[in-house]
Amino acid sequence: MLNNFTYQAEDFTRSIAVADYIAQYRDAERFAACCRGCDNYNRSWCCPPFDFDVEQRLRKYENLLLVATVITPTQKGLPISESRALIRPERIRLDKQLLLLEQKHNALSASYVGSCLYCPEGSCTRPLGGECRHPELVRPSLEAYGFDIGRTTKELFGLELQWGRDGLMPERFIMVCGLFHNDEGVKW
Ligand code: SF4
Repeated sequence: MLNNFTYQAEDFTRSIAVADYIAQYRDAERFAACCRGCDNYNRSWCCPPFDFDVEQRLRKYENLLLVATVITPTQKGLPISESRALIRPERIRLDKQLLLLEQKHNALSASYVGSCLYCPEGSCTRPLGGECRHPELVRPSLEAYGFDIGRTTKELFGLELQWGRDGLMPERFIMVCGLFHNDEGVKW
């Protein structure tokens, strides 16, 4: 396994009214169908189906701070199988910052999509019907809430998502997370 990856990471932010983001970028039916085809569906507390109404939860907040993180590996042509390891330090950094802001602003964070960071792979309690071990840390992603991240990066950030080809990583990854809040002047 490769390790010691080097990369550059840069965060970009945008703010949008929650009502507008839901109206323009949420397609619950389409993304629920994608989620049902994923191995994590109903097998992680980060993922659908949820035991709460998503719109009701999100509409408690007026504003959404979106954060797009662009990660560019220094070395070209790395195997795509190492993507998860390469982006993991950035996921940890983003989650920490989101949870701090969540506390500070009585807000709700949405983390980057992917397998849960907080238990060893394959050990989530959900398939066995247990409670989440770390509900204070785990937050569903914007994708899991049914938002279109491809259009979000393109239309709100001017960034196109890239995909790996021939078993190799793309030139760059873009991760999108967010903070639903009711405060003025929330700073990333
Ligand atoms: S913290 Fe553990 S139990 Fe909770 S969603 Fe993540 S893997 Fe599952």
